Formats: sequence, C-alpha cells, structure tokens
Amino acid sequence: MINLILFGKPGSGKGTQAEFVKNKYNLKHISTGDVFRYNISKQTELGLLAKSYMEKGDLVPDNVTIKMLEAEVNNSSNANGFIFDGFPRTTLQAEMLDEFLQSKKLSITMTIALEVNESVLVERLISRGKDSGRADDQDRTKIQNRFNEYNKKTSTLINYYKSQNKFFEIEGYGEIGEISQRIFNVIDSNT
Ligand code: AMP
Repeated sequence: MINLILFGKPGSGKGTQAEFVKNKYNLKHISTGDVFRYNISKQTELGLLAKSYMEKGDLVPDNVTIKMLEAEVNNSSNANGFIFDGFPRTTLQAEMLDEFLQSKKLSITMTIALEVNESVLVERLISRGKDSGRADDQDRTKIQNRFNEYNKKTSTLINYYKSQNKFFEIEGYGEIGEISQRIFNVIDSNT
C-alpha cells in the first residue's frame, strides 16, 4: 500500500500530477480543496463554513479540515492507498493524519514536493483562473495571501517529513509528462 502526500505551493501542479499517479498506482486521490469546492457548490453546511476562508485565500480551520479528511478516508475503506493533495497544510493536520492512519494500521509512505518559484506560479494561477472561473485564482492579492499562508503554516512540514526521512523534492517545471516521470522515479526507487 502506498500513501503519498503531494506537496507544494498553490499552482505547483499537485492536482494535475495526482491524476497520473492515481492511474499508475491505482490509488484514491483526495484533494481537500476539491472536496471543499464540491461542498460549496452543493451549499452544504461544510461548504458554507469553508467558503469565507477560501474566498480570502485563508486556510480553513484545522478542526473542520481534519474531520472532513477523516470522513473521506473512511468512505474509501477498499482503497489500495491514498494520494493526499493539499493536505496536510499545518503541523497539527500532519500530526493528526499520522495518528489517524496509525489507528488504521496505516502510515504515510512518502511526501513528494513539486518545487516551482512564486513568480511562475502567479502566472499559472491567473491563467488557470481564466479557464476555471475560480475566484481565488483570479486575484493577485488572494494568490499572495495563499502563498503567505503556505510560507507561514505549511512550509514547516518540510522538516516534519524530513525528520522521518519521508521528504522528496522534484522540479515542477517542464512538460507535464516529464514531471510525472520524475514522480514515478521517486516512488519506484523508494517503495
Ligand atoms: P487548493 O485547491 O488545494 O488550492 O485549496 C483551495 C483552498 O481550500 C485553500 O486556499 C484553503 O482555503 C482551502 N483548503 C484546502 N485544503 C486545506 C487544508 N488542508 N487546510 C486548510 N484549508 C484548506
């Protein structure tokens, strides 16, 4: 069983790459951002809760996010393994994820970070926002706030996973297929 975290700043390609990794290794892809967006579109209680944070580019509170993630995993008890995309984003989320997986006799296999610099990411996000209509991708102030949230709260996870020898970084530039191959190489050489 492979339980993989795809790590990286907004726009680094986690969602795109997760689809390729999911198909190759037959894993269940959980994107917390996608689950929140789905709930917002259905106007569920969770969606209403998450909306104001997401609109500003702030992180949704840990207790809400962790509960949702656990429900997603519990709903896929037959999965061959998971790709966590956009989760964890805080130390508390990472600790809770370890604890939760342990209670199911599972663990994180590795974290793969897609490294792309912020100036490239801003242009990628603006262009993605034009296609998708995502409000948080269309406003440079919101994009900057998402980077700030990452730099303040998420980047510390690099050391969290490094200290467990589970952190790998690849360059997130180039053709989509080339980037996938870099990810496959990391997975295949470490499992
Ligand atoms: P993403 O699609 O991963 O870029 O996430 C979009 C937005 O959803 C983020 O800016 C946050 O507001 C919220 N979000 C997604 N995942 C998390 C998480 N693990 N913790 C807190 N907020 C999250």
